[in-house]
Amino acid sequence: MDLDDVLEEIRAEVAPSVGTGVVADYIPGLACVDPQQFGMAVAMNTGEVHVTGDADTCFSVQSISKVFSLGLVMTHDSNRIWERISREPSGNPFNSLLQLDQEWGKPRNPFINAGALVVTDRLHSTTGDARSAMRELVRRESGNPMVDGDPRIAQSEHDTGHRIAAMAHLLASYDNLECPVEEVLEQYFWQCSLAMSCRELALAGGWLSRHGVRADGTRMLSLQQTKRINAVMLTCGTYDAAGEFAYRVGLPGKSGVGGGILAVIPDRCTICVWSPALGPSGNSTAGVAALDLFTTRTGWSIF
Ligand code: GLU
Repeated sequence: MDLDDVLEEIRAEVAPSVGTGVVADYIPGLACVDPQQFGMAVAMNTGEVHVTGDADTCFSVQSISKVFSLGLVMTHDSNRIWERISREPSGNPFNSLLQLDQEWGKPRNPFINAGALVVTDRLHSTTGDARSAMRELVRRESGNPMVDGDPRIAQSEHDTGHRIAAMAHLLASYDNLECPVEEVLEQYFWQCSLAMSCRELALAGGWLSRHGVRADGTRMLSLQQTKRINAVMLTCGTYDAAGEFAYRVGLPGKSGVGGGILAVIPDRCTICVWSPALGPSGNSTAGVAALDLFTTRTGWSIF
């Protein structure tokens, strides 16, 4: 099987669905992105990277950053983060305040906004600087020392982020934040604003398919910890459509409202697909279609 051919076929096949749906428009920096873009990168554990389309165009990683902050917090804090966050799909919108209040300030999982705030808070308190820790990780693993947040996007997130600010205050009211609310929010907005390409993200997520081993062969997380992150990605990584995503794609995945999806085939490769137009659950329409075709064509599956 020639992976480059497979990717080209997939790109041709999903072309009609590129642009189907809506681009996230809650901030200008996302609303102005051209929906007619599609890129895909497959980073093999052997080191090769196969790409198609706009795989080298940077986009806003948004919620995909939650996988990196979770991985990092577990390297610094072992498994203690799970005392403050559950591991169940929420069945509610990713930014719901209601469920958080009903469940006494313990977020359902680390990939909804409330859970991600707790992860960022813990990362900030254990490292003293969550931003530098995240930046170092994504730069080193992607191989691009220039990867950074987009200050324009981070500022707009800050200016419009009333709901997430309310969520952070609600967490603080339940004593589930250690750092000052404003600091946690600033770190969170920065991580969402990270600008990366499919190629960079696929490479940066390689530790997820190498059972916790970094690109340079050193260990970041144990096999068991990495298995657990992948499991939570499978059950909670794609908003309210995690069941549908598991059914169609059959892989751990984490999506973001920038239109990217990072998916993992343990022991084999990490895949990143990007196309900005989102379906009703907030996942990239063409991205899900492409991953569905990819696992079907290659027969690569965790099941
Ligand atoms: N910055 C977005 C928020 O917190 C991220 C949303 C997402 O990608 O799921 O609302």
